[in-house]
Amino acid sequence: MKHDASQPPRASQLGGSTTAVHAGEQRQKPGDAITDPIFCASTYTFPDTQAVIDFIEQKLPREEYGRYGNPSEKIVEAKLAELEGAEAAILFTTGMSAFVGLLMAKLNAGDEVIFFDECYHRSREFCTKHLSRFGVKTVQVRACDYAAMEAAITPRTRLLISESPTNPHLSVVDLEKFVDLGRRRGVETLIDATLATPYNLRPIAAGVDYVLHSATKYLAGHNDLLAGVLAGSREKLEPVRKLRGILGTINSPHNIYLLQRGLKTFELRIERHNANGLAVARFLDQHPRIEKVYYPGLESHPYFEVAQRTMRGFGGLVTFLVRDADWRQTAAVVDACRIPRIAPSLGGVESLIEQPLVMSYFECTPEDRQRFGIPDNMIRLSCGIENSEDLIADLAQALAQ
Ligand SMILES: *Cc1c(COP(=O)(O)O)cnc(C)c1O
Repeated sequence: MKHDASQPPRASQLGGSTTAVHAGEQRQKPGDAITDPIFCASTYTFPDTQAVIDFIEQKLPREEYGRYGNPSEKIVEAKLAELEGAEAAILFTTGMSAFVGLLMAKLNAGDEVIFFDECYHRSREFCTKHLSRFGVKTVQVRACDYAAMEAAITPRTRLLISESPTNPHLSVVDLEKFVDLGRRRGVETLIDATLATPYNLRPIAAGVDYVLHSATKYLAGHNDLLAGVLAGSREKLEPVRKLRGILGTINSPHNIYLLQRGLKTFELRIERHNANGLAVARFLDQHPRIEKVYYPGLESHPYFEVAQRTMRGFGGLVTFLVRDADWRQTAAVVDACRIPRIAPSLGGVESLIEQPLVMSYFECTPEDRQRFGIPDNMIRLSCGIENSEDLIADLAQALAQ
């Protein structure tokens, strides 16, 4: 094959960091700049009427109006598809709008979806409070209970949904079983792999139909923007892309620029997040004031074996329980930390800490919290890219108080 200097080599032959830096980008860019420009345009001009007609008859791939897409977005979608090993990727303004966009594009009244019950609380809320209003039934089964999921399948079931690892319990889905279940029963599958990232988990290679990420988290990585992405086959994602053009859940070119910039260091950051997560989990696991640590890279974790088989690294999120602590004593540990900041979210360069009871489940009844597995003494720490010795020393002083 003739070497084409205008295109980077195919990403399938390249490592993840080379892909993160180069994939989706033209070699030669406007103005000979090394970076892609930010096109501040809500609309795109045609030289004459025939060009409009050619475009409508799909003879001419190009931009039209900003709600349907912009050049910056197409670059980052191509980059993300390469990173994910998927045919296509579609960006949304948030992880939630990607989730809602997929479900709205795929489901009809009378359809059913089944999901594992350990999940981002807003995903659950969309299914139970809103999809229900459109006649879509949602069924929750215990996380990683494949038999229960199979038993819940009916002829109306359209989608099996799970996160992997789950939030905040970090249970890991056995993708082989999940995909096999979907294929045997003729139901499509969706994995929200936000916590894993394409560095640590390869759901498309395992046969999952749709992969979702809150790009707000590790993909953007700097706690400075919101975005979401869906990856899968071009054909299956086409109706989602069409619906997005109607919903208008498209990122501004400025936002995309930040995401593209954040992605350049994707692999470097994830390697550090993985190392910090493991070091912090091991430290907490042997600490006398800690009752339990949830981290898939720890041998004590119920999903250690599945994680070893399916994941390359285990991420920066560590969830733990403080021994014999009520919610106030637990809050005191959070408040005593000097490096992690108290905030929702995860996956950025700055470490973030929170007590799920307070941050996400404060308005739930105690019964619901028990049902969702959120004890009063639970803390969730998203390890950033600081030095692990500093994070550990800080946790040690907070737990000594
Ligand atoms: C944050 C998050 C979402 C929602 O993403 P937004 O970008 O905040 O809309 C969905 N799933 C998981 C696992 C998340 O952590």
